[in-house]
Amino acid sequence: MDEKLTKLVEMTRTLGQPHLDYVIVGEGNTSCRADSGTFWVKASGQQMNGIGESGFVQVHAQPILQMLEQSPGDLAAQKKVMEAARVDPASKLMPSVEVSFHAMLLEECNAEYVGHTHPVAINQISCSSRAQEFAVKRMFPDQIVLCGPESVFVPYVDPGLPLALAIRERVRAYIGKYNEPPKTILLGNHGLIVIGQTPTEILNVQAMAVKSARIFMGACALGEPAFMADEDIPHIYRRPDEIYRRRQFVER
Ligand SMILES: [Zn+2]
Repeated sequence: MDEKLTKLVEMTRTLGQPHLDYVIVGEGNTSCRADSGTFWVKASGQQMNGIGESGFVQVHAQPILQMLEQSPGDLAAQKKVMEAARVDPASKLMPSVEVSFHAMLLEECNAEYVGHTHPVAINQISCSSRAQEFAVKRMFPDQIVLCGPESVFVPYVDPGLPLALAIRERVRAYIGKYNEPPKTILLGNHGLIVIGQTPTEILNVQAMAVKSARIFMGACALGEPAFMADEDIPHIYRRPDEIYRRRQFVER
């Protein structure tokens, strides 16, 4: 059996555990690079909790990426492209409707894994007027180390191609500013995306983002969050001991 798919299944089941409150029913989706031209992505309608290998579809990246360069037309035309991109044309499964942002993030961020969830703690903020503030500011060092110096914020856009295009524009701006891909993306009125090289990194960054959301809400309830000063953020992010520590969080 494909070792990467096995790891993706395990990561997805972990993210789907009910007690974590990251997703319910068919919410959320995950992906990982399979080889140089294809990737695995959760199939549409599958539950993350308890998902197996049969809940994933292997997809050719190129036709999906091409869709972002030139829209094939309406939703029916997009669905046809997604259907034709499957490595196994006889498969009864359809890739998640978010397959386009998965293809784009694996490519643009040179990532191995992508995890997308709708955590309650995150969405209490993403559905508020303080969503962008939460995304771009930082409150404590481990948030900087794991979630990055800031998160990309994408205001609400319809799922599918429009969302993939909106994310791409802002991810490119982030890469232009920091010269490296983001670790976390906050989707307004929607949820969280984590980008990483290993399942361990996805799970740790996801957990830290949710912890940050809880801290933000508690700090707001007590008055105003005391954000870290802008000048302290790059210095913590670049500290050699923190880089060493970060490596322990992401490797395996
Ligand atoms: Zn979603």
